[in-house]
Amino acid sequence: MDDQILYTQQLKADKALVTVSGLTKIYAAGKIALREVSLSVSPRECLGVVGESGSGKSTLARCILTLEPFDQGELMLDGQSVRGVKRRELKRIRSRLGAVFQHPATALNSRLTILQSLLEPLDQLKGYIPSYVTGIPSGRRDIAEHLLNMVKLPAAYLDKYPHQLSGGEKQRVTIARAISTEPDFIVLDEPTASLDVTTQAAVLNLLKDLQDELGLAYLFISHDLAAVHFMSDRIMVMKNGGVLEHFSKDELFQSARHPYTQSLLEVFSTCCLPTEPILL
Ligand code: ADP
Ligand code: MG
Repeated sequence: MDDQILYTQQLKADKALVTVSGLTKIYAAGKIALREVSLSVSPRECLGVVGESGSGKSTLARCILTLEPFDQGELMLDGQSVRGVKRRELKRIRSRLGAVFQHPATALNSRLTILQSLLEPLDQLKGYIPSYVTGIPSGRRDIAEHLLNMVKLPAAYLDKYPHQLSGGEKQRVTIARAISTEPDFIVLDEPTASLDVTTQAAVLNLLKDLQDELGLAYLFISHDLAAVHFMSDRIMVMKNGGVLEHFSKDELFQSARHPYTQSLLEVFSTCCLPTEPILL
């Protein structure tokens, strides 16, 4: 049996949060952006996706987040196929997913205060009371303050506007927003690519801490193999819309790796990830 199919079936049996089977996406001009991509993400797991620019990583992210329709294949979220689901159900499914993208400046509305931006997702889920509200006075400001605290930003930032924050601070706000609705699974699409090297390390460490603390599963997308290695339990390598190989993090340095993966290893950077033992 095809390795990809076998792999997906095995993970389905483990009650994956997200299962993608044979996903194909063709853009209007006939551009095939995804070719029969299969993957699966289990609870509390981080699957890293690495590949050069244009390999289809962001298209995959948008398809999984149900922001983009796909042409063939199957997407199961929380054991349920998204094919043909009603709009209301889709809204419910989307509320269980978090997303952090590359450019925090465009993810935040420049006219809203940080407090308003932080509470936007919860405001859309009318009537939903997050479990972290228990035990604290449940005013809007308290909720927003709790979220800022989760991403290690001071409460004084609540009344600031995005332009008053650095890139790393803005990305912390988008991370706080992503966890506000208590998703089990978050898509991180190049979350540190727009940040300087020191800030990248701090944000990656924050994401790792939050994953442990909140029991999150991640799809972590990057063109930077060092960042993917630091974050992930398993790694998937993409090229030209297809999956070249899947392997566990420990197998990255084995000689059996695809020549393309080995070429990515040649530019493996050791500069930005101070806490990863293998990089010391
Ligand atoms: P990556 O995130 O790995 O850089 P993308 O998913 O953004 O890759 O793009 C994959 C391919 O699909 C690229 O060739 C890109 O030019 C193309 N593509 C992306 N978005 C669109 C679109 N909206 N219309 C047409 N082609 C697109
Ligand atoms: Mg991209």
